[in-house]
Amino acid sequence: MAPSLFPDYPPKLTSEQEQYLLSNLKDWSIAHGLAVRPTASFVSQKQDPSGVLATTAPVTLFPSLFPRACFEEGLAIQQAFNELYSAISRDENWLRGIVEELVDIDDFVAKLWGIHVTVKKEGYVQDLSLGLFRSDYMVHIDPSVSGVSPALKQVEFNTIASSFGGLSSQVSVLHNYLSKINAYPHSVASIIKSNSLPQSKSASSLAAGLAAAHKAYGSPRTSYPTCILFVVQDPERNVFDQRHLEYSLLEVGVRSFRLPFHRTLSDTKLESDRTLVYIPPNSPSTPYEITTAYFRAGYSPDDYPNPEDWTARLQLERSRAIKCPSILTHLAGCKKVQQVLATPHSPHLKRFLPNDAAASRVLATFAPIYPLDKSDSGMEARKLATTPELAQRYVLKPQREGGGNNVYRKTIPEFLKTLPESHWPAHILMEMIEPPALKNAILRNGEVQKGGVIGELGVYGVCLWKNGSGLDNEGKVLENWEAGYLLRTKGDQSEEGGVAAGFGAVDSCCLV
Ligand code: ADP
Ligand code: MG
Ligand code: MG
Repeated sequence: MAPSLFPDYPPKLTSEQEQYLLSNLKDWSIAHGLAVRPTASFVSQKQDPSGVLATTAPVTLFPSLFPRACFEEGLAIQQAFNELYSAISRDENWLRGIVEELVDIDDFVAKLWGIHVTVKKEGYVQDLSLGLFRSDYMVHIDPSVSGVSPALKQVEFNTIASSFGGLSSQVSVLHNYLSKINAYPHSVASIIKSNSLPQSKSASSLAAGLAAAHKAYGSPRTSYPTCILFVVQDPERNVFDQRHLEYSLLEVGVRSFRLPFHRTLSDTKLESDRTLVYIPPNSPSTPYEITTAYFRAGYSPDDYPNPEDWTARLQLERSRAIKCPSILTHLAGCKKVQQVLATPHSPHLKRFLPNDAAASRVLATFAPIYPLDKSDSGMEARKLATTPELAQRYVLKPQREGGGNNVYRKTIPEFLKTLPESHWPAHILMEMIEPPALKNAILRNGEVQKGGVIGELGVYGVCLWKNGSGLDNEGKVLENWEAGYLLRTKGDQSEEGGVAAGFGAVDSCCLV
């Protein structure tokens, strides 16, 4: 890890200072919904039988220092990334090429592709598609070269269920509030000058994306009122993150409902023209026509324990509702797509992103990523992945989302030994990004953990597009904007960064 540029940040607090900061932080968080439902190990079913309790979301006590140039570049190139992934989603033939390398060795990808093929045979009835994306980055400092400026490198691009946009807006306000009430010592206040704590507009901006899709759906086919459907996991600890988007939507006059994914077949129905209708269980006589199905579930095989869950995903994909994301957009988020785009001298990026200046800025964020197939670069990567000293610099990733799926560094060779070689190409091998050393303190489950941390910047993007058909095969982007940011911070002993997966905390950027 590269040496810290600000070894004295954050400063050590006296116990009185820490108590003052914590009591204000805890109250503000609950008062403003910077909260999660507690884990079962934190509060038992017996202590909270009706599920009324909430606790502060894992959060950092201080905003983490972040290089201003990297932050600004991440936000500036988000529209190019939106355009890129919308173009990939519209290119079925290209995606088929990617998926073909995976179908025999990745059952989940095969099932998703199967749904697309089924709906395509029948014909799609909705040509609009919505992406609420999040491009994730770390700051990379090459440890072998001294004096180089930090660079922004992409960890991954999320096309489904990009989370924490609701909470992130609150964290930047919280840190600003703590600064305003002098909960931070003077040395921090002097670093947190005007303009250095950018507020994230993610909650309202993502909600505006959903509202744009809702409007673009056009006139309803039924006489029912219209709504947006949040397709969610059940139970969901991160419910308040999603609620912030729902409340934002209601402010602009858009009704939404939460549908646990496993209730799709009982609480929705398809009309003969494939209009999707929601039947509220509390009021079955007042159905709603669904304009937009927003998936905060369905990205993991664990969401599909029964065959009916696949029937449910098919029902939603067949429907006239605008999907966020469609199956093709979901598949565009495969790590394999990221690897193919990052292949040196690959023609793909340029084809999807014809603007040279935009393409070269996007390209500059790619870290080296290799396939594990039998191509020349795949054979080279196999050597790296099976030799412990070389594997040390890499992370192995399957085509999965939601955290907790990767294999890191020295453990890669042992892991590959347990896997038939024919299944190796279901993974990609990525060089580890090496961020600068930073310190912070994290409040999680009521305990403060202090020490070295690693930050991961997420930049949200909203993109609404029309899929091409017939002569107009290229489709058209209708809306495209950068939609705020998220900073997640984890202890530097953990390779994984997911907040919901139990590793990280939500944070905000103090630009330096
Ligand atoms: P997921 O889709 O499951 O979130 P990610 O690709 O984001 O998968 O990997 C999960 C976590 O692993 C990231 O949040 C990050 O902390 C760590 N990670 C992934 N790729 C890298 C990398 N190239 N360098 C350093 N850390 C990484
Ligand atoms: Mg992901
Ligand atoms: Mg991730």
